[in-house]
Amino acid sequence: MLRQYVIGNWKMHGSVGQIRSVVRELLRAGLGTNVALCVPYPYIALTKSLLMEAESALQLGAQDVCEYHIGAYTGEVSAAMLADVGCEMVIVGHSERRRYFGESSETAARKVRAALDGGLFPVYCVGETLEQRQSGIARDIIAEELQVLAGVPTSLYAVAYEPSWAVGTGVVATPEQIAEMHAFIKGTLDARTRVLYGGSVKGDNAGQVLAVDGVDGVLVGGAALSAAEFLDICREAR
Ligand code: PEP
Repeated sequence: MLRQYVIGNWKMHGSVGQIRSVVRELLRAGLGTNVALCVPYPYIALTKSLLMEAESALQLGAQDVCEYHIGAYTGEVSAAMLADVGCEMVIVGHSERRRYFGESSETAARKVRAALDGGLFPVYCVGETLEQRQSGIARDIIAEELQVLAGVPTSLYAVAYEPSWAVGTGVVATPEQIAEMHAFIKGTLDARTRVLYGGSVKGDNAGQVLAVDGVDGVLVGGAALSAAEFLDICREAR
């Protein structure tokens, strides 16, 4: 069985100094290939060089990718560029991209395709808002978002179930809610699909989340900024 993933999403946080100190502390713990860091674009090369210096197995990722392969798209970064600077994976369709940048599932579908074409492993995020959950349409929303992955072989991606009411809020979905949605996602796609949970995972709740049936790992935002907290989460991965 594959080890549970722990993927850190730094969002738009960090600095050269912070990357150096957090990554060096993580490196001292000797983490394996089941752990990844998705840092802001400007810090990818620096993080890569720190990982290489230490011959670390830790994986490197980006938080977004352009849907186009190459060309006059000012401000964008292609999958080939990310692979070129050492990324292995990329987060696609994060709820913050959907909410603040109007990213649709159609755009996310093109980004998943671009990531795969560029040799990257997409971690595709799905999840409902609180209103959608309260109106009883959470499964419909997720089923619609999962259509993005139609026809893509299961082994080439992971899904992150991230209810937006749990992302960055300090509210964690209950084990029952997580188990139910992970089973729904695997039932819709394929039983072998790797499904991560994301939403306010911290050192003190990671054990409980990672013990839930059907949880193949966690996507961690805020808690990934602290090496000590992130390491506490990594220690809970089976
Ligand atoms: C995320 O950014 O994907 C996330 C889950 O954030 P947080 O852990 O801060 O809720």
